[in-house]
Amino acid sequence: MKLRIFFALFCLLLGGCFKTAPSELHLALGNPSKATNSPSNSDNYLMIKPQYVLSYNKSKGTANWVSWQLNQSWLGKVDRQNDFRPDMTLPKDWDKVVPTDYTNSGFDRGHIAPSGDRTRNIEDNSSTFLMVNMMPQEPDVNRGLWSDLESYCRSLVTREGKELYIIAGPEGSIKTIGKNRVVVPQFNWKIIVILDQPGSGVRGVKTNTRAIAVKVPNSPSVKGTNWRQYRVSIDRIEQETGYDFLSLVPKSIQDEIEKKIDNK
Ligand code: MN
Ligand code: MN
Repeated sequence: MKLRIFFALFCLLLGGCFKTAPSELHLALGNPSKATNSPSNSDNYLMIKPQYVLSYNKSKGTANWVSWQLNQSWLGKVDRQNDFRPDMTLPKDWDKVVPTDYTNSGFDRGHIAPSGDRTRNIEDNSSTFLMVNMMPQEPDVNRGLWSDLESYCRSLVTREGKELYIIAGPEGSIKTIGKNRVVVPQFNWKIIVILDQPGSGVRGVKTNTRAIAVKVPNSPSVKGTNWRQYRVSIDRIEQETGYDFLSLVPKSIQDEIEKKIDNK
């Protein structure tokens, strides 16, 4: 009897050892701005959640980037929780962006990691409604081609069994909104690396691995257009943001993937 309890405990411990930490899971391809979790690094502050990882920018009131894995295991049947709220895990003395900062601004509270990518349980879905995962997005972008691209990503997972590593964020500044002066970006960018073999992680990235990068103006001018026309190279987004994406991918493979523009 005692032996059986010991065995159960041993298995539990062993399982814990093999479970990948969220930082490794969502940052499998790298930490593009070398964000750290030191509060003194307030404009490149690393936040690790089970559902996604991000670099927060206190001056901007938004993330610099949010990074997340997407495969079949994240998808289920949970409804949108719609519980937009400040992230109380930010350092205690920092002002927290609140949902009402966006009210009457003309901009949507645009998810960076989409609600639809986290539907296996209520907790996961709810985590996407934290304000640190929002950027002020033009409604024509958020509800139009940006949403289409999010659905396209999920279709790669559900129809083709792919595993995606996605990273997205705001770039530039048009103005600020709300009492916490949240910066409205000029562009929204996103990089999607598409792996054939779920679970392969960074080792699954080869020179012929498909990657999609887009840079979309955060402007009503995009109304009625398709996300495909905003495709750019990863190199271009690296130049404009100053980040190094795919930094854990061997340099020769990284260079090859980053110079291409997806045309599928
Ligand atoms: Mn959205
Ligand atoms: Mn790179």
